[in-house]
Amino acid sequence: MIPAAPAPQHAPVPLAPSAPRWQQLWREAMREPRELLALLGLDALAEGLAVSDAAAMQFPLRVPRGFVARMRHGDPHDPLLRQVLPLDAEMQPMPGFSLDAVGDGAAKAGHGVIRKYRGRALLVSTGSCAIHCRYCFRRHFPYAEETAAASGWREAVEIIRGDAGIDEVILSGGDPWSLATPKLAELTDALATIPHLKRLRVHTRLPVVLPERVDDALVDWLGSLPWPVTVVLHANHANEFDATVDAALARLRATGALLLNQAVLLRGVNDSVDALAALSERGHAAGVLPYYLHQLDRVQGAAHFEVPDEIALALHRALAARLSGYLVPRLVREVAGDPGKRPLPYA
Ligand code: SF4
Repeated sequence: MIPAAPAPQHAPVPLAPSAPRWQQLWREAMREPRELLALLGLDALAEGLAVSDAAAMQFPLRVPRGFVARMRHGDPHDPLLRQVLPLDAEMQPMPGFSLDAVGDGAAKAGHGVIRKYRGRALLVSTGSCAIHCRYCFRRHFPYAEETAAASGWREAVEIIRGDAGIDEVILSGGDPWSLATPKLAELTDALATIPHLKRLRVHTRLPVVLPERVDDALVDWLGSLPWPVTVVLHANHANEFDATVDAALARLRATGALLLNQAVLLRGVNDSVDALAALSERGHAAGVLPYYLHQLDRVQGAAHFEVPDEIALALHRALAARLSGYLVPRLVREVAGDPGKRPLPYA
C-alpha cells in the first residue's frame, strides 16, 4: 500500500538562464483558484462554485495560461475549468475510494518502476506535471521517494536490462516530458544498450496542455530513437485542441511516432455522446486515434467525477452507432491485479 502523502510532490522544474521557452511558460502557470476565476469573469459565490482551499492545499491548482485561454469566459461549467478547479467535493471521504486506486504500490519493482503487464515496464519518470488534473489517479502517489529519474535512472535501467521478458518501456509520471530533453536522452541512451527492448511508449499530456513543449530539441530526440515510438496523449474534451496543439502534434507525427489518445470519462466534462464524438473527431483531425476511454480510477478526491457503469456503457453504445469503428475508443477500467485493462462488459 502506498502511504498517504501529506501533499503531492510535484517538484518545480529548475530554470537555467538559457532555459527553453516552454519552461518559462511552465513557471508562469496559474496557481491561484480565485485568480483563475477572476480571469474567466466568474464569481465563485454567485456561480455556486464550492472552491476549496483545503483541496488546493492537498493538491495545488496548476494550469498553463495557454490552456486557460481555451476555457469559455463566464462559463462555470466549462469542461476544461472543471478538470482543474479544486472543489469542496474532493474533501468528502467516499467508501470505495482509496489513495492507491490502481495497485501501483503492490506492482512496484524498484524505485519508480512498476511491473503490471506482461512484457512491459512502466517508469514513473518524475512527479512533475504542467497541469494538475483533479481526477488524477496518482494524486496521492509518493513521488518524493518514487521516481525513476531520481537515481540517474540507474536502478530502472538495471531492472529492465536484467529481464529479457521486457520488450516495451512506458514512460509515465507525472508527465515524463516535464523532464528536460537532455535528461530524457540520458535515459534513452542507456536503454538503447539493452538488446531485448523493441518499443518505447510515452504517456504525456504536455503536447495538449503546453504545446510549446514540442520544441526542436524534443523533436530531434524523438526522431533519433532506435525503436518504434508510440505517444499516448491525454485529452478529455475537443476544446482542449487548438491551432497550437495541432502544430505540435504535426511535429510529433513527422518524427514517425504513432499518436493515440486516452481519455477519462468524467461527469460534467465529457459524459455525453456529443462530447465524446467531438473528442474523437477533433483528435482525428489532428492526427490522433482514440485508444482508451477509461472509467474513473477510484482515487480519493475524485468521486464527484464518477459516471456509473450503466451510463458509461450506454454512451459507448451510442458512440459506436454514430462513428466509424476506428474513432471509437475501448471503454475500460483498470483493476489492480488484472493482466491488462478490463473492458466494460456489455449486457
Ligand atoms: S497530467 Fe496526468 S499525471 Fe499529471 S495530474 Fe494530469 S492526469 Fe495526473
